[in-house]
Amino acid sequence: MPVSLPPISRRSFLVRSIGGASAVFLAPQLFAGQTDQQANRFALFSDTHIAGDRKLVARGTNMTDNLIQVIKEALAFGPRPASVLVSGDCAFLQGLAGDYKTLLQLIEPLRTGGMPIHFALGNHDNRERLLKIVDDGRSDSSPVVGKHVTVLETPLANWILLDSLDKTNSTPGLLGEVQLHWLEQVLDQQKEKPVLVMVHHNPDSRPKPSGLVETKELLDLLSAHKQVKALLFGHSHHWSISRHENLHLVNLPAVAYVFGKGEPNGWVDASLRADGMTLCLHCIDKQNPRDGQIVNLKWA
Ligand SMILES: [Zn+2]
Repeated sequence: MPVSLPPISRRSFLVRSIGGASAVFLAPQLFAGQTDQQANRFALFSDTHIAGDRKLVARGTNMTDNLIQVIKEALAFGPRPASVLVSGDCAFLQGLAGDYKTLLQLIEPLRTGGMPIHFALGNHDNRERLLKIVDDGRSDSSPVVGKHVTVLETPLANWILLDSLDKTNSTPGLLGEVQLHWLEQVLDQQKEKPVLVMVHHNPDSRPKPSGLVETKELLDLLSAHKQVKALLFGHSHHWSISRHENLHLVNLPAVAYVFGKGEPNGWVDASLRADGMTLCLHCIDKQNPRDGQIVNLKWA
């Protein structure tokens, strides 16, 4: 199980097996002393694109400055989110060792602030280096051979972070049959709570997708399991909410640069309720008209 960094001050994870699939559980002591709002609140980051060189600017954006800003904002929240989930493209372009060394330094305030961080992998990541440098042997091996997946149990929903990294610095994403089969097994056994699935690549049904190649397979699988309420993803550096049947599709904004003029970049504060999830967009540019936008998702 990959790349799930506990807070520096305390180990907050227990690991056990559900139906042969390893899982990360937030330990009860993490919830003790937290309000419900904390335990059910998550900071959602995507596409941080951190380069080894903190001064590097791409598409007019200094990625380090943006990550520092969103981390400060997440830490300033009262009550703080229970954890941070990062939807891939953690590294700049090629998943270099230097990128991950800088990333590890930049996220330290989250860890000293008591917020665990869970990473999914994107097409600009390198699995081996992310695991070696950022995770540094803290997590168990993945139940999916050659991929890295995380199951995170929280009071009101279980999160499943998938791995759609196929080839580093090659755009489309691939889950693979083994991961899809593993996901089906986990979903068959996790019916008691809503499930939220996070993956880097966006659904993309075009014949030559730049997003997820197995879009139909994944959407069919998630739609067949009614406890799956939302699919969250990044990759397109675009903020939008849509639906596929009863499934909410949440395209998280990039923390780093945007591809389209006026697109918001930043992060999303997600608060779970028993019957849904409230999302609040926090833009890097506080003048962006969408800063502070609130979206209420209701579970079908
Ligand atoms: Zn990206």
